[in-house]
Amino acid sequence: MNPRFPAPGGTTLRCRGWRQEGLLRLLENVLSVGEDPDNLVVYAALGKAARNWAAHDGIVQALRTMSDEDTLIVQSGKPIGLVRTGPQAPVVIMANCNLVGQWARAEVFYELEKKGLICWGGLTAGAWQYIGSQGVIQGTYEILMRIAERHFGGPGSDLAGRFVLTAGLGGMGGSQPLAGRMANAAILCVEVDPARAEKRRAIGYLDRVAPDLDTALTLIEQAKAQRHGLSVGLIANAADVYPELVRRGVTPDVVTDQTAAHDLIHGYVPAGFALDEVRALRTSDPERLMAASRDSIVAHVTAMLAMKERGAVAFDNGNLIRTHAKAGGVADAFSIPIFTEAYLRPLFARAIGPFRWMALSGEAEDIARIDDAVLELFPDDAIVTNWIRLARAHVPFEGLPARIAWLGHGARTELALRVNAMVRDGALTGPVAFSRDHLDAGAMAHPNIMTENMKDGSDAIADWPLLDAMTLCASQADLVTVHSGGGGYAGYMTSAGVTLIADGSEAAEARLRTALTNDTSLGVMRYADAGYDEALDEAAAKGIRRIALG
Ligand code: NAD
Repeated sequence: MNPRFPAPGGTTLRCRGWRQEGLLRLLENVLSVGEDPDNLVVYAALGKAARNWAAHDGIVQALRTMSDEDTLIVQSGKPIGLVRTGPQAPVVIMANCNLVGQWARAEVFYELEKKGLICWGGLTAGAWQYIGSQGVIQGTYEILMRIAERHFGGPGSDLAGRFVLTAGLGGMGGSQPLAGRMANAAILCVEVDPARAEKRRAIGYLDRVAPDLDTALTLIEQAKAQRHGLSVGLIANAADVYPELVRRGVTPDVVTDQTAAHDLIHGYVPAGFALDEVRALRTSDPERLMAASRDSIVAHVTAMLAMKERGAVAFDNGNLIRTHAKAGGVADAFSIPIFTEAYLRPLFARAIGPFRWMALSGEAEDIARIDDAVLELFPDDAIVTNWIRLARAHVPFEGLPARIAWLGHGARTELALRVNAMVRDGALTGPVAFSRDHLDAGAMAHPNIMTENMKDGSDAIADWPLLDAMTLCASQADLVTVHSGGGGYAGYMTSAGVTLIADGSEAAEARLRTALTNDTSLGVMRYADAGYDEALDEAAAKGIRRIALG
């Protein structure tokens, strides 16, 4: 947590109700745990909480004064106005970074951003849903455990005695070392910026920072031999280290990458450049930087392919690195599979995905009580119970205490209603906010990440997130947002986000039931429409009213 941006807490209202107060606290929280809060940057290179500080202050002022009859409209991180809607309508609706088709290109985005007309909200930055590196940790852990099962020993196996190589210790990439350790792997994380590695070490996500590659490899070898989980950071450029390992004949068991490779200017750091030099080039010569980043990504992915050829399990962890490598001439970059298709799609087809809750009071004890409730509600769900036990033992909180767990249709609603009742009965210190990642069944079209190789070829159809957002607006959600890609993601994706505040009231109960149920219903319908058996089964088993034609 950044001391200049303290996490909110307590039970004193500064707004006219908990719906507005909850959203205000979430905005404060994303800055508290963000990567560069002075510049409103939360994660993923350029993902921002608000367009600029004036826009931020305008949002805060609106949330503090608006009534339950009003909805605040936010366009690309800037408050536009209030409209009179009524207490069943969202408190905030947002559209972030949506460009018209032919204009949805990185260079157009950068131009508009320079003019102050747009900002990129990432997925969870602009929607004030980011909770630190914990946000993606279960996803990374589940991928690693599925790799262990499929490639290294069958059901019940973990990655003990295995070497995982990755890079990037930023906002999201910072989840990798802890997820790796929890899967019992010896995981090496290459990071070019020492401050990022130190941040992860200080909050307990990274065990060690090695002074050089030889020491790092020795530590990895020792952990492998002892079959215990260990995460080792190495301050170096991945585009140097990966090819060097290939030269030395060192082949990891698993190789991936989570640098901010999607953005060739503000995210990826090319080999051969000092960090200060890169920061200066971002404004003085962005074209040179883009070309250098692409060259380095070519070397980086070429080395991943060589490791794959030598037997490593390789996967893309959702950062467009294959896309840029292919554009740079690596013809077979897409022989590296995307994690969604390779490991998680059967879960998404049942609308099981990263659901999260935040204790708005700031009290960690509230999350512990909700952990207990999850274990009591879903004792037969092995993924959830295993995760909650692991998470409460290993995952430190950043900012507002929060938890993430992969829950699906019905389960999300059931948990949220239980929590709302706990708030009402005084079993929790204060209200709780619920949201989910935008990388969710009905919520995202991202043809190189979430929807790559869909069974029916519907990868690029962005109707689904738009339908999701409209459904959520019609279903009493408290915050609804539609995001498209900015920076290097321009033209690559559209997603929908949702947040709800459980304040213990009857009105909250109705909102949680309607919005969460309809959100996952749409997710199941989306995958059923694409022909996935799991979704067809889930729709039939849970009475989801899908219309099947002919
Ligand atoms: P970030 O900007 O916070 O951090 C990126 C990190 O990569 C930085 O610490 C940077 O120093 C480091 N880096 C850049 N180039 C490097 C290089 N050549 N060698 C070593 N380190 C380098 O970004 P983030 O929030 O951690 O996100 C990382 C990527 O993951 C983004 O592309 C993001 O869109 C993607 N992402 C994927 C998922 C998912 O579900 N799999 C979720 C969120 C984000």
